[in-house]
Amino acid sequence: MLIDTHCHLDFPDFDHDRELVLKNAFSAGVGAMINVASSLEGSRRAIGLANACPGVYASVGIHPHDAKDCPVGAWPEIKCLAGREKVVAIGEVGLDFYRNISEPAKQAEIFKKFIGLAQETKLPLIVHSRLAQDQTLEILKDHPGLSSTGVVIHCFSGDIDFLKECLYRGYFVSFTCNVTYKKADAIRQVLGYVPLDRMFLETDAPYLSPEGKRGKRNEPANIVELAHAVAKIKQVDFDKVCEQTTRNAKLFFKIG
Ligand SMILES: [Zn+2]
Ligand SMILES: [Zn+2]
Repeated sequence: MLIDTHCHLDFPDFDHDRELVLKNAFSAGVGAMINVASSLEGSRRAIGLANACPGVYASVGIHPHDAKDCPVGAWPEIKCLAGREKVVAIGEVGLDFYRNISEPAKQAEIFKKFIGLAQETKLPLIVHSRLAQDQTLEILKDHPGLSSTGVVIHCFSGDIDFLKECLYRGYFVSFTCNVTYKKADAIRQVLGYVPLDRMFLETDAPYLSPEGKRGKRNEPANIVELAHAVAKIKQVDFDKVCEQTTRNAKLFFKIG
């Protein structure tokens, strides 16, 4: 069994065949999926989906791209959503300085608010960090209590120093199908350093389809290909990768 710890099944990309996508995932051995929210509306949709589908869980959060669109006055609803059934995490939240779709100061403001919510609810935090390693570490450093409820840096694309600091602080890291890309030697090298008991697998579907399916929509069933790639990189059995990463995810997100 595998767990897709980060996918966006609530996106319109899945509107025409969501049921089939879920069926494919279960047939491929994916036992659970976390539908990660990226906006207020997405948080509502994620919870709706989780309530309608066994095996699907939800998070509540606002992606740094969407930080600028966080409605003033939304906070009471966000807090309420975070307490709903099947909500297993806060996120994705963080910093993305690749395109700065939201102003960096706004991103940091929203990130900090959700960190506070994670501490309040004692839910683990799913962090998105792109071209913002130092600033991410700096903000998280002010909240040492987070390590006990859990922090995961998702779609890990950082360098080895960033990785070392994350592991030292007790954070988890999670990898997507981009580790299968021909030019992804740097990510594979970093992955090689991560102990199997500190990582999760995720598709980030509909994004980042594995090599051979690039350009197409990604879906949770493809996490099997990622598990094979991780097994090869770490030179361990495929079954061992599945068993350990699933155990990590179950404990971290308190699933099952
Ligand atoms: Zn992300
Ligand atoms: Zn995502």
